[in-house]
Amino acid sequence: MADAVADRPRAVTVALFVGKVIQDDKGNEQVIDQDTASAIHYDMIINGYIDRKGILTDKYYEDKANGELKVAEEVADSAASVIEIVDSVYDARSTQPENARSNNVELRVDEDKLAIFDMTISGMGAEQIATKLEADNVLTPTAYWIAKGVRRPGRGQKQPPTHWSGSSVIHILTAQEYCGDIINFKTYSKSYKLKRRIDNAPENWAIFKDVHTPIIERAVWEKVQEKRGQIRKRKNSQGQVSMFSGLLVCADCGCNLHYHFNQGNPEIRYFNCSNYKGNRGTCTSTHYIRVDFLEQVVLGEIRRLTKFASKYETLFAQAVMGCSRQNAETERETMKKEVYALQARNRELDVLFEKLYEDNVAGKITDERFARMSQKYEAEQHDLTARIKELKDAINKSGNQSVTADMFISTVRKYTRAKKLTPRMLNELIQYIEVHQAEKVDGVWEQKLTLHYNCVGVIDIPAELPSLIPMFQ
Ligand SMILES: [Zn+2]
Repeated sequence: MADAVADRPRAVTVALFVGKVIQDDKGNEQVIDQDTASAIHYDMIINGYIDRKGILTDKYYEDKANGELKVAEEVADSAASVIEIVDSVYDARSTQPENARSNNVELRVDEDKLAIFDMTISGMGAEQIATKLEADNVLTPTAYWIAKGVRRPGRGQKQPPTHWSGSSVIHILTAQEYCGDIINFKTYSKSYKLKRRIDNAPENWAIFKDVHTPIIERAVWEKVQEKRGQIRKRKNSQGQVSMFSGLLVCADCGCNLHYHFNQGNPEIRYFNCSNYKGNRGTCTSTHYIRVDFLEQVVLGEIRRLTKFASKYETLFAQAVMGCSRQNAETERETMKKEVYALQARNRELDVLFEKLYEDNVAGKITDERFARMSQKYEAEQHDLTARIKELKDAINKSGNQSVTADMFISTVRKYTRAKKLTPRMLNELIQYIEVHQAEKVDGVWEQKLTLHYNCVGVIDIPAELPSLIPMFQ
């Protein structure tokens, strides 16, 4: 009996798609909602892929064999994922994508993508990475999907399969899905009758954090985003870049410090405030700091930090966490629930508004009534949107605290025995360094640096540990 049930082919229905997670060739994920599911199903009927009972037709298998399967325009970029769902109906061996809220959706862990993040952290730019990937004969995302038999209309078909561009590298680097999140509503349609999807502003995205296993550590991902947003690195005449470029900030005016080297003696490399009065700026002091001094002090501070972390593990964890993680977690869950409810109401209002509009056009309701009602809907939607944004910001903030605190602790551990400062180490640990103006205290020059660590900010390390007081000559 059980066998008979298992053998019976199940049908492709709208419900088959609802709630499934699909992924496009760039790694963006989307949870299929009711409307999109209907569109996919409808498109399959139009294309002759399923009959009235939802049974897959010969045409489906033919087109699939020829790599010519077409899917609804709404999900054209995620064709492979959609086909996977369809195939799950008949083929028990193909794994069915999990539902959105379950915790074990695995992204394709792709060594090439990991390498792209790695190269960025070690200071390579997008164009440099593209050049390297091409030299290494790595397939571009488009070529990858073509090789898998998925037709990708239009874009990049004629490009050589290993011709990488800086922008495709950037697209991978900025995909938030790689650190475990799922983002919905990146695009929307104005009406269910219009097929064209319109880009939604990032503040309207619904971001579900830590839904699946990340392929990139969140701390690494965030560091990469930060690096990408930084001011272009300054090079000296030999084309060298200091590892501190973009990390140093003036403690008095907040401007970045810029890299220089002594014309007469290129060995003397230093930074000073880019906004200094003497150079037509407004900052009152140069905030001059030598690179060799910086290296020594920063390495000393990091070693003090790692020492503290290994000697006083609990204290350190507490300092990093700041507040109790569980509290933050509970609070987050409550806020998330509210967001879901508000979003549902928001979509409901869209539908109501559409209905109202159609009724008005059809003459079922008067213009006055239409104006009054639409105003009411609009006002409610406006309030809803504001509240959703407020909640999302709060969720993002609290989420980052607990997750990234853990990441930071493990990063610190990694550098327990570091003897030398490396660009990677700096990028992974430090968000920025505030440089104060040097002062003469009791006849000795002193210069203070404030290190702001990634995720956690300034950490107070108890004075009982050997402390290295920065000296300035
Ligand atoms: Zn300044």
